[in-house]
Amino acid sequence: MSRARTPLVALVLASLSPLASAGAQAPTTWPQHSLDRPKPPVEVAPAQRLPVAPPPGAIVLFDGRDLGWWTTGDGQPAPWRIVDGAMEVVPNTGGIRTRVGFGDVRLHLEWAAPAPPRGTGQDRGNSGVFFQQTYEVQVLDSYRNETYADGQAASIYGQFPPRVNVARAPGEWQSYDIEFRRPRFDSTGVLLTPARLTVRHNGVLVQDDVALLGPTSHRVRTPYLAHADELPISLQDHGHPVRFRNIWVQPLPR
Ligand code: MG
Repeated sequence: MSRARTPLVALVLASLSPLASAGAQAPTTWPQHSLDRPKPPVEVAPAQRLPVAPPPGAIVLFDGRDLGWWTTGDGQPAPWRIVDGAMEVVPNTGGIRTRVGFGDVRLHLEWAAPAPPRGTGQDRGNSGVFFQQTYEVQVLDSYRNETYADGQAASIYGQFPPRVNVARAPGEWQSYDIEFRRPRFDSTGVLLTPARLTVRHNGVLVQDDVALLGPTSHRVRTPYLAHADELPISLQDHGHPVRFRNIWVQPLPR
């Protein structure tokens, strides 16, 4: 995925670990995707009335009717389907992103994994919400579906499992309410403060102001790279017809 980035500067956070004092959650010592990492306990989320109406002033990025806010990675019209008031990933057409960028932002969206379920592990109901096209909150069918802890639904992919697994069954609507704080870099591109995420899955707090170790990556940790203050939100095509609906955001004050 293309990203607008300031060249040259990289800071290897994982090895320097300046995050211990920065957040409620200490940096992990678990290797990425470790199968030995404890799985979050399964809980049943309280009933939630969905869809959740956008509050006054919220920017509605998808209201069930059209994909006007969304494009492909290179700016073409988004090729995903609209079905029953939801957008559905059309496998292998690529991820989609918002036409405009966001910095610190609160996001609400609802999603449903394909029913009946197909596949196992990461190959089942996989998608993702990327902030600034860089930092992923995982979307996965984690209902009676084993995978590595840092790759299940509501994980910060490859970094932090959710505190609990409150996944609903495939085909049922689920909600994410996410607060994203972008990383801050100085004028030379050195990281000042890491990106932070708070995630509620089906109304349950599962990530509490977690400081990210760096950009989302697979199998290898990659360092922060300075980038623009505002970048698009993107949704992942991982080859599965996951559905999304009722997507809205509220830019957050600093
Ligand atoms: Mg994913």
